[in-house]
Amino acid sequence: AKRAGRNAYAIFDPTMTMSVLEEAQQRADLEHALEHDEFRVLYQPVVDMNTQRVTAVEALVRWQHPRDGLLGPYHFIAHAEANGLIVPLGRWVLRQACSQLARWRAESPAAAGLKVNVNLSARQFQYAGLVDDVAAALADAGLDPASLTLEITESMLMADITTAKETLHALRRLGVRLAIDDFGTGYSSLSYLKQLPVDVIKIDKTFVDEVHIDEDDVALVDAVAGLGQALKMQTVAEGIESSEQWDTLRRIGIDHGQGYLFGRPVSAGDIADLLEQPESV
Ligand code: C2E
Ligand code: CA
Ligand code: CA
Ligand code: CA
Repeated sequence: AKRAGRNAYAIFDPTMTMSVLEEAQQRADLEHALEHDEFRVLYQPVVDMNTQRVTAVEALVRWQHPRDGLLGPYHFIAHAEANGLIVPLGRWVLRQACSQLARWRAESPAAAGLKVNVNLSARQFQYAGLVDDVAAALADAGLDPASLTLEITESMLMADITTAKETLHALRRLGVRLAIDDFGTGYSSLSYLKQLPVDVIKIDKTFVDEVHIDEDDVALVDAVAGLGQALKMQTVAEGIESSEQWDTLRRIGIDHGQGYLFGRPVSAGDIADLLEQPESV
């Protein structure tokens, strides 16, 4: 139950408990928010485990609600997923993240090697126009495709394996990098993983939480590190909050880390400041 908690919203269908009227209101609210530019993108640093240098940032969406304040994804992503608005919203996040990376690079040589990660939802991943959207976002920002990493979850891959594989290969042909998010919380088999053009494995926070005190979690993370090495995929540990966790994960050989210890999700301007600090580049 502990491991399912964080991702529970992904399988919770909000339409099940909402009246038709509430559903229509939600949709109208989200549409209004999109039209009135109420969404924001925050960026969280991903660092090299050994040097602590920022190698990438993950784009994380927020809703600057006129009445309720800054809302996190748990307040609206599942609704947007259910009513389909996640497709235009996700496209907006993608375009925002690409143009922001181009802007950081134009403003500072410290951002030259920086990459950006963007989350895809299940619905976006199934959307037939995805590959064109990604290509257009890159072209309009003038960004090389290898600067963009798209994050998808295991469950998205398992839903329809054949189509998922085709989509991944089409994205790979574009030249973007692919990451499996929340790794370990789904059920992807090893033989299946081997067939996928995946560059990065992101180890879910639930395996990181007690890794400094729980030998079982050490064994699990160690196994994923070995898997990454065998399949030539980079590993990222998510949700690192303490130096004890960092220490343990670094010794296991995890390549990159993400978490409050290194930095919370912040505005684009704060990332620019962070990059200017000599120790971060
Ligand atoms: P995720 O993709 O697994 O993103 C990591 C989440 O963990 C983020 O929450 C981040 O703020 C949080 N986090 C990072 N480090 C730590 C830490 O050290 N401790 C703790 N307690 N939390 C940490 P956030 O921003 O609330 O996003 C939640 C989820 O919403 C994301 O999980 C992702 O699944 C979804 N999401 C966010 N932005 C987007 C988006 O643009 N599109 C889609 N489709 N989903 C998004
Ligand atoms: Ca993610
Ligand atoms: Ca994750
Ligand atoms: Ca997650």
